[in-house]
Amino acid sequence: MSEKTQVIKEKSMVVQKEMLAGYYKELSSAKESGRKVVYTFVPGNLTELVLSFGARPVYPEINALQSGMRKKSMEFIRQAEKMGYSEDVCTYVKCDVGMMLKGNIGPTGEKIPEPDLLLCSYTGCFTFMKWFENLAKMYDCPVVMLHVPYRSTGEASEAMVRYVADQIRTKVIPALEKATGNSYDEEKLRAMLQRSAAAEDDMVYCFESAKNRPSPIDGYFAGVYYIGPMFTAFRGTEACVRYYSQLRQDIDERLARRLGPITPEGQIEKERYRLVVEGPPNWTNFREFWKLFYERGAVVVASTYTNVGGSYDLGFRHDPSRPMETLSEYCMSCYTNLSLPQRADVLAGYVRDYHADGLLVNSIKSCNSFSAGQLQLLRRVEEMTGIPAGFIESDLVDPRYFSYANLKNRLDSFFQMLDQKSAPGGSVSMMEAE
Ligand code: SF4
Repeated sequence: MSEKTQVIKEKSMVVQKEMLAGYYKELSSAKESGRKVVYTFVPGNLTELVLSFGARPVYPEINALQSGMRKKSMEFIRQAEKMGYSEDVCTYVKCDVGMMLKGNIGPTGEKIPEPDLLLCSYTGCFTFMKWFENLAKMYDCPVVMLHVPYRSTGEASEAMVRYVADQIRTKVIPALEKATGNSYDEEKLRAMLQRSAAAEDDMVYCFESAKNRPSPIDGYFAGVYYIGPMFTAFRGTEACVRYYSQLRQDIDERLARRLGPITPEGQIEKERYRLVVEGPPNWTNFREFWKLFYERGAVVVASTYTNVGGSYDLGFRHDPSRPMETLSEYCMSCYTNLSLPQRADVLAGYVRDYHADGLLVNSIKSCNSFSAGQLQLLRRVEEMTGIPAGFIESDLVDPRYFSYANLKNRLDSFFQMLDQKSAPGGSVSMMEAE
């Protein structure tokens, strides 16, 4: 690392910070300004549709992870556990419920308004249903359910696309019309979808820049910031298009100068390991966690978590000429809605296309959607690619499950394994390492 304490701020970082601050500020006065509020989830979100009705979307997972990063989640989780939520419940849920019980003050210290509608997009996570079932009672608020079929065979058949599109047309749109008092405006939606596709092109370009050596970005630790506007309240807006255009310019500058990724302590001078990571990150100790990688020159060149709100790098783009069908296809493209063999193919493809040295699985205690089957995935990708794989465990926003010593030990072994593999004549498998 160079200039260890120098904080590097690129223009896109400043732009995103302002977007987020503006979003929470606008939310805090939504009730006074008469804006309707729709709570929904990141995977399978219908952001353009919600925005086209003039409503503001709120994503409880984003509030939870932001609270986790600001060290506020433990207090909220305790509050929910006191109410009877068990230790096994997803910690995003407990963080959200605890926040509500404490007055619904969001991560930036501003009030999150109560929902006018809960839009439950069911993309493979049973927790989503239970979560909104509880919120519906707590807020005494209507719920509309969008059932998104799991791609068990890997395909999204025509019948599946029609099934979801019909629900959007006959259930979700009427519910949004009722909640907002506004009529559906297809031209407005098409214009938003057009902007989504433009921003998606730029975002994919940015992630694919990691195919270069050295990679100018970290596709996981910085990647979680890059997906922010796309996966939340901005997709389909001019602001979103501008953000990704700026991000692309920032990355192009780094590429031209052959610079490595920016970290909280300056940029990585020497790329030593190129990794693919499966699973969400830990948020409560995010910087400490990242440091375990960048202080060793380990760069994540591709990650599956950055597909949780849509698999754009696998080719999906919103298509304004088929608004209902494209929203339907989008919902089914989210990473955890893919079958396990498809997920193995995605990981093996990343290893090949990004020239990775190793695969690392971060298994999250809270999240069954991601964690179920991860050991099999790991073995399958090892067989398919022959690269070494490692397995670590942590949690999303419960700091009780972040053990620095355990993670460091595991990562030490993992990096040793990569060193042995890259040594002349070196060969080591996950089974030997375990
Ligand atoms: S279990 Fe996973 S996908 Fe489901 S709500 Fe929790 S974090 Fe999200």
